[in-house]
Amino acid sequence: MSKTPQKIDIVLVFHGIGTPPADCLEADLPYWVQEEKFLRTLDIAKERGDTLITFDDGLQSDVRIAMPALIERGLPGVFFPLTGMLGKPGYLTREELKSLADHGMVVGTHGHMHLDWAKVPRELREKDIQDSLEIIEEILGTPCKEAAFPFGSFDRRVLASLKKFGIEKAYSCSRGKTNLANFLIHRTSIREVTDLDWMFQSLDKEKGIQKIKRGVKRFLRAHLPPF
Ligand SMILES: [Zn+2]
Repeated sequence: MSKTPQKIDIVLVFHGIGTPPADCLEADLPYWVQEEKFLRTLDIAKERGDTLITFDDGLQSDVRIAMPALIERGLPGVFFPLTGMLGKPGYLTREELKSLADHGMVVGTHGHMHLDWAKVPRELREKDIQDSLEIIEEILGTPCKEAAFPFGSFDRRVLASLKKFGIEKAYSCSRGKTNLANFLIHRTSIREVTDLDWMFQSLDKEKGIQKIKRGVKRFLRAHLPPF
């Protein structure tokens, strides 16, 4: 059962926070966000009350920086570790993963080996999902019901595989406003270059447009005869 509040309609995703390790892949560098920017995002999220923060890959900054900052602000967090990386340098240990859950954070899966689930054969995808779920459930002692697609990549076959293993919420990286009551949840990825004010403004604009559309629909339903 998710512990996240229901009025949330913006979900953000972070990866590493702080200084990237010396051997960080060049492709991953833009996703490392400085601690100051991360903390500012949390302060905005706390003030807005409509924003959920999530974390992919299971990096050590999850437990060293993110968890204490979330607890300090009374904010929930959802963490998606790669189970194949647990205990490797720079990644969470099994004990640290357990500690996230013990502190009230939600733990989902991001797979075992960071495979692109939409690009590998079904057997490989489902083995990756199953392996990761077994490890998380063994560590936490509770069922894992949430997943974030590696690389944000998915199609209907990926969704079917996740449902088969009892996943109730699947998080993409397709930005925009979202609804936590849905199976598929959109997330907006935060990078070091992200302009936070601009990002929240554009998400608010999107919310405003959707509100107008809903209003127009309601008006038409009330005023037009059914065809
Ligand atoms: Zn990832």
